[in-house]
Amino acid sequence: MSEYQLTAVGHIHSPYKQKFAIPRQPRLVPEAKAKLVFTADFNREEFVRGLDEFSHIWLLFRFHETADKGYSAMVRPPRLGGNERKGVFATRATFRPNAIGMSAVKLEGIEYKNGQLSLLLSGIDLLDGTPILDIKPYLPYSDAMHEASAGFADTRPETDMSVEFSEESLAFIAKQTDYPELKAFISNVLKQDPRPAYKKQRESTQSYGMTLYDFNIRWFVTGDHNTVTSIEKC
Ligand code: SAM
Repeated sequence: MSEYQLTAVGHIHSPYKQKFAIPRQPRLVPEAKAKLVFTADFNREEFVRGLDEFSHIWLLFRFHETADKGYSAMVRPPRLGGNERKGVFATRATFRPNAIGMSAVKLEGIEYKNGQLSLLLSGIDLLDGTPILDIKPYLPYSDAMHEASAGFADTRPETDMSVEFSEESLAFIAKQTDYPELKAFISNVLKQDPRPAYKKQRESTQSYGMTLYDFNIRWFVTGDHNTVTSIEKC
């Protein structure tokens, strides 16, 4: 068997601090802003010269949090309610050979500050600390295939979820002037319905928690309705 060694060119600083509630693909939550911080060997502007001409980039990364958990030939895509199985290569599952992921994200800017080179990104679907293996410009003339079909994942996943905030959580958000998009960010994450498929089938009200930036957010779900009950600093 051929074996290769890969080196991270950078790491992601992301508001998503745990896997739960990260959208299943990039750009579903545009308010998800992140920084790609280059490692010492790649911390030179030459590596990104010309990249600012592109609005979007491909990130190739390692699913580092789950890479040691192995993979199976068949997986149960959440799209199919967790009931049907497909071959791992017919899915974008995280548990896969080599644990390599790919996301096309928006490039908001390139920053060189205090000797550190970083890319400013939005619409990411990556966990904080994700190692980036490679970066490539997104090429619309070749990468966008309007005639493409996509079987069981043919359309953007839409839900009918609505989101309401308690007065207490709205008061907390109003004070977070460094995070002007916090309310829209939380709403759009919850509208993706991050619950595991088997929980969506339950009728009863359930409560959940997630961490975005350093905020612990709690909400409960009744039917298609999310109510954010509390937000606190971690
Ligand atoms: N867009 C990528 C792709 O198609 O290869 C990722 C798709 S994967 C279905 C998206 C999920 O990966 C997220 O919802 C999150 O739970 C998980 N994820 C993101 N970063 C990860 C990491 N570093 N390690 C493990 N899982 C991660």
